[in-house]
Amino acid sequence: MEATKYKPGVELKARVLRKIAPIEERPLELMELSVPQPKPGEILVKVSVCGVCHTELDEIEGRLKAKLPVIPGHQIIGRVAGLGIGATGFKIGDRAGIAWIHSACGKCHFCKEGNENLCAEFQGTGCQADGGYAEYTVVAERFAFPIPEQFTDVQAAPLLCAGAIGSRDLRLSGIKRGQVLGLFGFGSSAHIVIQIAKYQGYKVFVFTSGEEHRSLAKKLGADWVGNIDDNPPQKVNCAIDFTPVGEIVPVALSVLEKGGRLVIAVIRKSTLIPSMDYASLLWDEKEIKSVANITRQDVKDFLLLAAKIPIVTEANEFKLEQANEALLLLKQVKVCGAVVLKIQ
Ligand SMILES: [Zn+2]
Ligand SMILES: [Zn+2]
Repeated sequence: MEATKYKPGVELKARVLRKIAPIEERPLELMELSVPQPKPGEILVKVSVCGVCHTELDEIEGRLKAKLPVIPGHQIIGRVAGLGIGATGFKIGDRAGIAWIHSACGKCHFCKEGNENLCAEFQGTGCQADGGYAEYTVVAERFAFPIPEQFTDVQAAPLLCAGAIGSRDLRLSGIKRGQVLGLFGFGSSAHIVIQIAKYQGYKVFVFTSGEEHRSLAKKLGADWVGNIDDNPPQKVNCAIDFTPVGEIVPVALSVLEKGGRLVIAVIRKSTLIPSMDYASLLWDEKEIKSVANITRQDVKDFLLLAAKIPIVTEANEFKLEQANEALLLLKQVKVCGAVVLKIQ
């Protein structure tokens, strides 16, 4: 977005990041901008709800490079309010969702092989392209998703990143029937992943601090719940690390069974992974795998699965004006479940 767009217009309200700063400084500014116009093939979406994600903290605090200025937010539910030339997939008034994948080139070998999440030109919504902390946003219609009817806007928003990428994390863990899955950290994504894992019949052990998080994990069917460094009754065959710090990696490896895989779900860690003893933590054919971004197919597949299970999201609601406060509470681990902004 060119700087001129940030001259005070009066048509839409947005929370804008103009310079990197700790969230404690409340760097998201409330601004009034002009409504973006959909280009050919794009749709204009009037935003109803936008989910809040830990990745926004990484952008705001500079661990993940965003274009500046930028409107964050990549779990967007809204109604189509305008059609660019040639956009025919949605009608005015249709509900549409926008996820982390805002665009990819479609031509490179990653894109052609179904790995558009790894495209060098991958653009993240609310990071390289403006997102949903605003009353309106635009996206190419082929990167927008119809949302299953049964979900309200508030329930649906967290499905678009916490759910869809969480589902990719679970798939990439390689877990098999009869095995035990370990979840480290129990925020928005984990509270959805546990519902998929229980639906698919896996045993789930949850490692998390905070009594509220542990009781939500129990309520959602965890077979064992403990603190991050507690000893579980048996080793886990696969694990997903949702925590933002590097120190959890060796902790998770220490309870991983031989031949098991640890998936690191986050886009950035705020602290380094400490040096580790190879023999006791990684030998025995253990693996560590990261998860990068998401494909459109992941989102479509997950939305169908979410409707079938059905996933129930626990969402804490805030107003657009409270975006900084919501992110601060997320950083301080003072919210349990998902966090969403009700835009209008
Ligand atoms: Zn996210
Ligand atoms: Zn590509």
